[in-house]
Amino acid sequence: MPDLPAHSSPAFPPLHSPRPEHEHPHRLEEDAYILGEDATPPPSNDAELLEELPVVECEVRARIPTTTGHEMWLHVYRNNVDTKEHLAIVFGAQIRSRSLDREREGETELERMTRGAYVGRLYPGRTHSRVEAIKRAEGAMPKAQSGGSASVSSASVSDVGEDMEGSSNTELPLVRIHSECYTGETVWSARCDCGEQLDEAARLMSSPHISPSGGVIIYLRQEGRGIGLGEKLKAYNLQDLGNDTYEANIMLRHPADARSYGLATSMLVDLGLGGEAGIRLLTNNPDKVRAVEGPGREVVVKERVAMVPLAWKTGGKAGIKSEEVEKYLSTKIEKFKHMLTQQ
Ligand SMILES: [Zn+2]
Repeated sequence: MPDLPAHSSPAFPPLHSPRPEHEHPHRLEEDAYILGEDATPPPSNDAELLEELPVVECEVRARIPTTTGHEMWLHVYRNNVDTKEHLAIVFGAQIRSRSLDREREGETELERMTRGAYVGRLYPGRTHSRVEAIKRAEGAMPKAQSGGSASVSSASVSDVGEDMEGSSNTELPLVRIHSECYTGETVWSARCDCGEQLDEAARLMSSPHISPSGGVIIYLRQEGRGIGLGEKLKAYNLQDLGNDTYEANIMLRHPADARSYGLATSMLVDLGLGGEAGIRLLTNNPDKVRAVEGPGREVVVKERVAMVPLAWKTGGKAGIKSEEVEKYLSTKIEKFKHMLTQQ
């Protein structure tokens, strides 16, 4: 055996090693700018056939008043496939977690309320988690907000009206599957539009006009779609060195991860959004519809609602501005239009 340089060792496979088709094209954030989180490739048929839905349980939820004036209910889930705390960001009081509400043996009312398994709102001195107690206390407790404190401007409603042309199922809850993006959501990165997409999803779901039945953002803790922040930053460096997204992917050997869809499906079922009643899915990726529905069609997507990047909607006046993003705008816009009409 000759002395091979480190890059020839079996631990570092050749750059041209064959890879499953679904692993490569849309992994990185520059593609993600165009397609947002929808750039995630669909799981392979094999994965889908073999996949069993993970078991999920909502550990705790809490009411979160937000800076926009709306409220959401943040749900922390645990599951039997990884140790991450995946989240459900729930808009509207009518969407409830089955596993959270389920009684746990020996728990006290204070414990139930502490983990968020209560009806209505908490207030100082409340002693009971259940609805009968709420009725007794009625009049003494503040009325639940239903978005009245933050009305949606007429401009934003008409904007969305255009986006949602043909959307006839507004009574169905709106759902978005979103993958964690520290760079785009926390440290102001303009390499992708994840932060903007998260904001937009929340805006649509908190509007009583657009989403009267509420909505859910399933927030999966899979930075860079599971490769982690460190690997994502390496991909950025490889792109800055002149590699395109495809080459950077090959060099980093990003793993495919179809599990996230199963987690999302399980969480949606737990939130009562499974079955024939159906949901509307906010996505630009038609392939995602089937993936989110689950191996046994546990969730039924009745309608796909497209998400238009702010920059395109406003002719560049709003939304992400950066060199990285602009070089993709002109080349990918046709592709995006195509997807919009692909209902
Ligand atoms: Zn991002």
